[in-house]
Amino acid sequence: MKNKLIVLSGPSGVGKGTIVNRLLQKGNFALSVSCTTRAPREGEVDGVSYFFISKQKFADMIEEGGFLEYSNHFENFYGTPKKFVEDRLKEKDVILEIEVDGALQIKKAHPEALLIMILPPDENELRSRLIKRGSESQEKIESRIKRMDYELSKKQFYDYTVINDDLSAAVAEIESIIKKSKSN
Ligand code: 5GP
Repeated sequence: MKNKLIVLSGPSGVGKGTIVNRLLQKGNFALSVSCTTRAPREGEVDGVSYFFISKQKFADMIEEGGFLEYSNHFENFYGTPKKFVEDRLKEKDVILEIEVDGALQIKKAHPEALLIMILPPDENELRSRLIKRGSESQEKIESRIKRMDYELSKKQFYDYTVINDDLSAAVAEIESIIKKSKSN
């Protein structure tokens, strides 16, 4: 059975990271490590969380065709390194945790990729959580909400949507979607 590209997206705060960690613990999956031009946050490790690279290096990689997809998001670039993913695909299914524009590029180039969008049980609740979060400026909060609405507006292009109401149930549902897609 051929190994698959599995793309997981969803608005900020929906619990993608936790779901991905559960899948990695349970299943026979590899995780794509993206390149980004943003600065590392506290606790993030180069080569594990991301490959943190300069804008120049990112531009060089675009030029060399080094990305499966890339996008500009909140003033930084993010991209999926082609060779890294292709190497891992030889062994395992590979999970990409990326935003919608990149996900749709993947689908265009690799129609066999499986696109799953994680949704909150209640969009309004997530919206108010984003508003309350931390001490961010009004402008930042508004851009986050706008981004959330944008991501949700693309859900019809995904193969599946999964509501993260109960973590274990969401993980089980994703596992079963992957299993089914591999037996087709
Ligand atoms: P953060 O800066 O919070 O780590 O990530 C911001 C957004 O970038 C998230 O929605 C994340 O899924 C997305 N992202 C991370 N890596 C990639 C990538 O390689 N390509 C694309 N298109 N988006 C990515």
